Amino acid sequence: MAVFRFKALEEVMNREPRPIVREENLTSDYYGSLVFDKPKMKKYLSREAYQSVVDAIESGTTIDRKMADQVAQGMKAWALENGATHYTHWFHPLTDGTAEKHDAFVEISNLGGVIEAFSGKLLAQQEPDASSFPSGGIRQTFEARGYTAWDPSSPAFISETTLSIPTIFISYTGEALDYKTPLLRSLRAIDLAATGIAQYFDKTVVSVQANLGWEQEYFLIDEALFMARPDLVLTGRTLMGHSSAKDQQLEDHYFSSIPTRVNRFMIDLENEAYKLGVPVKTRHDEVAPNQFELAPIYEEMNLANDHNQLIMDLMHKVARRHKFRVLFHEKPFTGINGSGKHNNWSLSTNTGVNLYSPGKNPKSNLQFLTFIVNTIKAVHDNQDLLRASIYNASNQHRLGANEAPPSIISVFLGTEVSKMLDLMETAVGENKMTPDEKTALKLNIGRIPEIILDSTDRNRTSPFAFTGNRFEYRAVGSSANCASALIVLNSVVANQLNKFKAEVDGLIDKGTKKDEAIFQVLKRLIVESKPIRFNGNGYSEEWVEEAARRGLSNVRNVPEALAAYLRPESIRMFKKLGVLDERELHGRVEVEYEKFVKKVQIESRVLGDLAINHIVPVAVRYQTMLLQNVKNLQEVFSGEEYEELASGRKQLIKEIGAHISLIKSKVHDMTEARKKANVLEDNVEKAEAYDQTVFPFLDEIRYHIDKLELVIDNEMWPLPKYRELLFVR
Ligand code: ADP
Ligand code: MG
Repeated sequence: MAVFRFKALEEVMNREPRPIVREENLTSDYYGSLVFDKPKMKKYLSREAYQSVVDAIESGTTIDRKMADQVAQGMKAWALENGATHYTHWFHPLTDGTAEKHDAFVEISNLGGVIEAFSGKLLAQQEPDASSFPSGGIRQTFEARGYTAWDPSSPAFISETTLSIPTIFISYTGEALDYKTPLLRSLRAIDLAATGIAQYFDKTVVSVQANLGWEQEYFLIDEALFMARPDLVLTGRTLMGHSSAKDQQLEDHYFSSIPTRVNRFMIDLENEAYKLGVPVKTRHDEVAPNQFELAPIYEEMNLANDHNQLIMDLMHKVARRHKFRVLFHEKPFTGINGSGKHNNWSLSTNTGVNLYSPGKNPKSNLQFLTFIVNTIKAVHDNQDLLRASIYNASNQHRLGANEAPPSIISVFLGTEVSKMLDLMETAVGENKMTPDEKTALKLNIGRIPEIILDSTDRNRTSPFAFTGNRFEYRAVGSSANCASALIVLNSVVANQLNKFKAEVDGLIDKGTKKDEAIFQVLKRLIVESKPIRFNGNGYSEEWVEEAARRGLSNVRNVPEALAAYLRPESIRMFKKLGVLDERELHGRVEVEYEKFVKKVQIESRVLGDLAINHIVPVAVRYQTMLLQNVKNLQEVFSGEEYEELASGRKQLIKEIGAHISLIKSKVHDMTEARKKANVLEDNVEKAEAYDQTVFPFLDEIRYHIDKLELVIDNEMWPLPKYRELLFVR
C-alpha cells in the first residue's frame, strides 16, 4: 500500500467523483426556471405592471410606488411557489464579492400567527446597516446609513430559498458605494455618445447597448490539500512552494481531456447556472495544471456582470459539494500561468447592428471604422486610467509576468484592419478631397473584407485586442468585478465619441460635407493614436524598449497606477459624463489604496507566521537529525574516513542554518517595516510604504523557504507541495 506523506493525500486518492447531477429535461426546458424573467412577469403581473417594468428595462423610466406594490405581489407569489422563504437585496459593494442580507417574508398577522408579506416599498428600497462596507471615507460613521435600490434591468432570481433582488448601493447623500451604480451611469453615457455617432449613418438608431462576454479562468484544488495550506485559506495564493519538476512545460493541459471529478463539478455548476438564466457555453482545461475556464454567451453588460458575480459565488458553493476549492486569485502559484478574465466588449444598436462588425457596404464600413478608430484613440489617450482600473494587489503579480498582458497598454488590430487604417491615413490629404478621391476611398473601404472575422490573427500577448467583431480586454484579473474595468472603458470611449461628434459637427456647421468631415477627423485620430497600435509580441523585452520610445507609459505597482484616477483631467471627464463625481472618485480610490495595504499586510502576516511556526521548527528538527548523524559517524569512524563521510552533512547543516537565520532576521525586519508603515496616516503614503518596504520581503523570505523545501526530508515537510497541489486530483 502506498504511503502518503499526508493524511490529506490519502483522502484525495480515495475520492469518488460525484454522480452526474443533471435535470432529465432538455436545458431549454428548465433554463431560467429560477429567474423572474419576462415570461414569468407576464404570468404573475397585471398588464399595466408588466409594461412599467418593461419600460424601466428598455428606456430607464421609473416605476411608481403603486406599480412597485403590484410587482412585489407578483414576485412574492412566484417566489413562494418556488420554495422561497426569504428575500434579499443583492448588491456589489466595493469588496471582492456580492452582499446580501436575508429577511423572512413573515409578518405577524392581525389574526394571530404569521403571514407571508412583501411590498413595493421593500422591493424598491432598503437600508442595510451599511457602516461596515468600504466607502473610502464618503460615509462618515455619524451618517452611516446607506441604502439599496432596485435595479429592474436585472431580473430577480431565487438562490436556494431566497428571492434575490439586484440593487444598487448608495450613501444616504446619494454617492455610489458600489460597482453597479457607476456601471449603469457609464452605460447611459456610452449609449448617448454612441447613438449620436450611429445616427450619422442611420437615422433610425435610437439607442446603443454595450455587451460583455466574460471568460472566467480559475484553479480547482482538492479541499483536503487546500485546507492543509494556511496561505491558500487566508490569502488565496501560495506564499511559498518550490516549483514542481513538471508543471506546464509540456503544454499538455490546454484543451486536454477534462478529469472526471472536475467534469462532474462543471456539469453540476452549469445545471445551476442554467436555472439562474446564465447562458454558460464553453468549458475547457487551461494552460496551467488544474486551471480551467468557463465562458457564457455574451449579454447586455449590466446583466452579464451580475451573472459573472453570481457565477463566481455559485462556483464556490458547487465546488464544495465536489470537495474542491476554487481559486480566483490572479496568481495562486509562482512560475506557472495565472488567471485572468477576458472581457469581450462590443456595442450594438437597437436596430441589431454590431458597431464593431464590418458591414456589407461603404457606409456601414465607414461606421465600423469610425467606432474602431475612436476606440483606439480613447485607449491611447487613457492608457493610465485603463491600467488603474485593472491594477490591484493580486493582478499586480500577473501583469507583466510574461504570460499575461503586460503593464504596457497597447491595441492589437491584426493585419486587415491595420491596412485599412493605413489606407485611410494616406488617402485623406490635407486639402478637401476631390469627388474622385472620395469615391476611390469609399470603394476601398467597401472592400473591407468580410473575411476579417475569420482572418483576425490571434494575438494572446495583447492587453486589448480586436477579434473580428469585438474588442477583448484581456488584462482584467480573474478575481475582479468586471465593472471596475468596464466603467473606465465605457467612459473613455464615450468621452472620445463625444469629442469626435463635437468636432465633426463643427466642421459640418462650417459647410464641410458630413463624410468629408468624418474622413478628416478620423485621419487625424489615426495619426495621433498610432503609438498605441502594436501587433507584435507583447511579452518581449524589445517591446518594453519600443514602447518607451513610443512614449507609452509603463507602470508596475499599484500605488502609482491608482494615481491616474485623480488627475484633474480624469476627474473632469468622469464628472462631465455623469459617471462619478469628485467625491465618489476620491472615495473609490481611497478604498483601492486601503485594499492594497490590507492585502499585502495579511500576506505578510501569514508568511511571517508560517515561516516561524511551520517552517523554522521543521528545519531545526531536520538539522538536529543531521547533527546527531554526524556525531554518530564520529563514534564509528575516524580520521580521513570520518571527514569524507561527514563533510557533506556538515555543509548541509551549515546551509540549513544560514537559511534559518535569514528567514528569522527577514521576518523580523518585515514586521518592523509593517510597524513603520502602519503608523502612516495618509493612505497613499501607507500604500507606497507597503509596496516598497513590505512587499519585497514576501519574495525574499519565500526564496529561503523554497530552498529549504528542496533539502529537508520530504516526510517532514509540513505543507502540501506544488506537485501535490497541482497534480493530485
Ligand atoms: P476565445 O477564447 O476564442 O476568445 P471564447 O469562446 O472563450 O473565445 O469566448 C468568447 C466570448 O466572447 C464569449 O463570451 C462570447 O459570447 C463573446 N462574444 C462573442 N461575440 C461578442 C460580441 N460581439 N460582443 C461581446 N462579446 C462577444
Ligand atoms: Mg478569448
